[in-house]
Amino acid sequence: MKSFECRHAGVVCDAKVSGSTEEEVLAKAVAHAREAHGVDLSASTTLANFARGKIYDEPEKAAQ
Ligand SMILES: [Zn+2]
Repeated sequence: MKSFECRHAGVVCDAKVSGSTEEEVLAKAVAHAREAHGVDLSASTTLANFARGKIYDEPEKAAQ
């Protein structure tokens, strides 16, 4: 599983999004940034790449 946390990008925010693929996580991060922070990551390749670079692999935990 891959995850992205806003605070890893230097934002004071506890939001965390996860997905099975980098694209899925990035899409969720883009949606979150737009709704919660008024920032459109998809409008800037630099921002999108920055966010993508903050996505990390998370070990699978017990099914919830
Ligand atoms: Zn956030």
